[in-house]
Amino acid sequence: MAGPLMRNITLLGATGSVGASALDIIARYPERYRVHAVTAQSNVDDLADIAVKFSADIAVIGNDDLERPLRDALNARGARTIARAGRHALIEVANTPNCDTVLAAIVGSAGLEPTLAAAESGKRLLLANKEAIVCAGALLMAAVQRGGGSLLPVDSEHNAIHQCLSGVRATERAGVRLVLTASGGPFLNRDDLDEVTPDQACAHPKWVMGRKISVDSATLMNKGLEVIEASWLFGIPADRIDIVIHPQSVIHSMVEFADGSVLAQMGSPDMRTPLAYALAWPERIASGAKRLDFAHAGPLTFEAPDRRRFRCLDYAYAALGRGGGASVVLNAANEIAVQAFLEQRLRFTEIAPTIEQVLESYDPPPPQSFDDVIEIDREARERAGDCVMEKIR
Ligand code: NAD
Ligand code: MG
Repeated sequence: MAGPLMRNITLLGATGSVGASALDIIARYPERYRVHAVTAQSNVDDLADIAVKFSADIAVIGNDDLERPLRDALNARGARTIARAGRHALIEVANTPNCDTVLAAIVGSAGLEPTLAAAESGKRLLLANKEAIVCAGALLMAAVQRGGGSLLPVDSEHNAIHQCLSGVRATERAGVRLVLTASGGPFLNRDDLDEVTPDQACAHPKWVMGRKISVDSATLMNKGLEVIEASWLFGIPADRIDIVIHPQSVIHSMVEFADGSVLAQMGSPDMRTPLAYALAWPERIASGAKRLDFAHAGPLTFEAPDRRRFRCLDYAYAALGRGGGASVVLNAANEIAVQAFLEQRLRFTEIAPTIEQVLESYDPPPPQSFDDVIEIDREARERAGDCVMEKIR
C-alpha cells in the first residue's frame, strides 16, 4: 500500500505560538510533511533556527530591513535556506506551486494578503489568522471557492464545529445552531480592571498564546471575533450563534441540530489537536496532546457571558449584523487599542470604549475588493489612533 501523501507546507507566522505547535507536529512526521517556507515579522534568530531545523527551502522575514541579517544568520548556521523579505515574498511563498498546504498563523490583518493568495491558488489553507476572515470573510470564502482548495479551521472552536459537522448534509446544516465555548479569560471573576497590567491580561488560565490574542481573550473580543469567523466559515447567521462561558475549556464548541441533539468536541486544551486534525484531514494522527482524563477532569460548568462587563461581545454581534465594512472597523480599532494597552499607553478598561467610539464614527459599506479592505482598515486605524491619543491627554 502507498504511504501517506507527502505535503509541502508554508508556515506563515512560524515563530509564533501557533507556528510552534504546528512545527511540533510536523517534526513527528517527516514521512508526511516537508517544510517549504517559514516566515516571521522580525525575529531573525528564531526564524533561522527553525529554517535550519526543518531544512526549509525559503525563509521570509516580513520586515524589509532584516533581509541581510536573516541571510547572515542562515549562512552562520550553514543553512541551504534562501533568505527573502517583505510583502511580495510573503505572497510568493503562500501561492507558489512548490507548496500545497499553507498555515495562516500571522497575527492581525497583516496576514490577510498572503492568506488570500493561498486561498486563491487552491492550497489547503489551515486558518488560525482569524483577523483575516473577520476582515474579508466574503472575499476569502470566494477565493477558496475559485481556487478549488480547502479551508480547515485551526481556531479550536471552529475546528470543533468542523468536526461536529463532518458528514452532515447541506440541508441539515442549514438549520443548526452553533454554541461557541469561551473560557472567560483571566478576568472572568474580577471587577477592578482599571489597573490591570499587560502581563496580568496575558496570563490566560487555560491556553498559552501570543500576547494580542491573550488580551482579546481577557476582553472577550476574541469570542466576538470568533462569532464573525464562525458565521463566514459555516454560513450561519449571527442569531444562530451562541456563546457560553465554560472555564474548564474541555468542550471546544458544540452544534445543536433540529431534533435537539447537541454534538460537542472535547479534548485537553492544546492547539496541537486542532492543528493535527487540519494537517491530516480526513485522516487522524497523534498530536502529542494529553489524553482527556474524565475521571480526574472535575466538574464541567457553564454560564452565560456577562455582556455588560464584556462590551466587546455586543460590538462584534452588531458589526456582524451591519455587514462586512463594520467588521473591518471593529478589528482595526481592536488591534490599535490592544497594541496601545500592551505598550501601556491605554488602560485595559479603555479598550472597549475606543472600539465603540470608532464604530460609532465610521460605518463604511461592505468591501468589494482587497483594496477596499485595506482602505477601511487604514481609516479605522487612524481614527482609533486618534481616540487613543484623546484618552492619553
Ligand atoms: P504570535 O504573536 O505568537 O505569533 C504571530 C506570528 O506572526 C509570529 O510568527 C510573528 O512573527 C508573525 N507576525 C506578526 N506580525 C506580523 C506582520 N505584520 N507581518 C508578518 N508576520 C507577522 O500569535 P499566535 O498566538 O501564534 O496567533 C497567531 C494567529 O492565530 C492569531 O490570528 C490568533 O488569533 C490565532 N489563534 C491563535 C491561537 C493560539 O493558541 N495562540 C488559537 C487560535 C487562534
Ligand atoms: Mg479560539
